Amino acid sequence: MKAIDRALNSGIATPFYLYDVRLLEDTLSEIRRSIGDRPVKVHYAVKANGTTGILRIISREGFGADCVSGGEIEAAVHAGFRPADIFFAGVGKTDSEIELGLRQGIGCFNVESLEELRIIASIAESCGIKAPVALRINPNIDAHTHHYITTGLEENKFGISADDMEEGVRICMDNAWLKLRGLHFHIGSQITTMEPFMILCERINGYQERLDSIGVKLEFVNVGGGLGIDYDNPEENTIPPFQAYFDALMSHIRLREGQTLHCELGRSVVAQCGSLISRVVLVKKGKEKNFAVLDAGMNDLLRPALYGAHHKIVNLSSPDAPMEKYDVVGPVCESSDCFGIDEMLPRLRRGDYVAILSAGAYGQSMASTYNMRPLPRSFFL
Ligand SMILES: *Cc1c(COP(=O)(O)O)cnc(C)c1O
Repeated sequence: MKAIDRALNSGIATPFYLYDVRLLEDTLSEIRRSIGDRPVKVHYAVKANGTTGILRIISREGFGADCVSGGEIEAAVHAGFRPADIFFAGVGKTDSEIELGLRQGIGCFNVESLEELRIIASIAESCGIKAPVALRINPNIDAHTHHYITTGLEENKFGISADDMEEGVRICMDNAWLKLRGLHFHIGSQITTMEPFMILCERINGYQERLDSIGVKLEFVNVGGGLGIDYDNPEENTIPPFQAYFDALMSHIRLREGQTLHCELGRSVVAQCGSLISRVVLVKKGKEKNFAVLDAGMNDLLRPALYGAHHKIVNLSSPDAPMEKYDVVGPVCESSDCFGIDEMLPRLRRGDYVAILSAGAYGQSMASTYNMRPLPRSFFL
């Protein structure tokens, strides 16, 4: 409990997100070390965690930003990302978001449909600003992850069908307001084997051959994000296997002369540096079960309720107490507001502090005020 004493002594009310800045910096260094001098550029996926403190650290380290809304573009600019290093993805960019991106001078629009390509071209023309674009192609790969976080299948709403790639390229060539910079892909999230990434690279090699045959050269190919983290043993595996990831990509992708590989890591950058710190409101003895009711709920950390995700929970106040079994639940009026069923934890008492680990990604960024609860605050250690 030593490391977090400072946070607790600061008087910050639970629940709150606690971020380990040192671990984030070590993670960023490991990414850079694993890339070495290979032609790879990382855009951090802001939706994983757009907290200003987090964004500033990542921008300071020279990473780009992958944004999915006008709000994220503004947050990224505010946190110090160079506009040219900001890419904008998303299936439903509104006219005003597209205009914002153009006026800010962002580096690329990742375009998700031929319809959108035409819309961006017409807004670019009316603003008098040429739009840099990449075509997001749906490679039809099953990343074997959770249904909701698989995005690279034909049936998903994301991306342009590979059959329409040449038509997308032609639209760009024929329109003076579009500048085609690359191809973009993203197959899913929390992917814990390298195989889906290797298959993606081979798929991309095929697409590049098709483009070669029509004489199209691209500055980059962007493989998206999706590298998973270890939610079961976060304390042993604090930093994801970036070396294996970049090695897998670079040994399978065939880059053209001068081409750069882009990727958009989100979860793997920030998940392990964040914990949700909460207190036990009370322990309720049920007929069959004991319920540990926390002051943190699904509005603070939605992943368990939304995806059935499980985060490791630790008792910070009495880590050496005898083990007991609990359903660990939040106070929100929904049965899905549950962080763990039959969790074995050192005995919990009213007022104890618990940490819900690996909560740095898709934690604070998904928080809401449901039940009119305040948004969780953050504390940087
Ligand atoms: C969400 C998203 C990412 C980041 O995914 P992670 O699994 O957090 O690495 C990257 N690119 C796109 C297009 C996304 O939608």
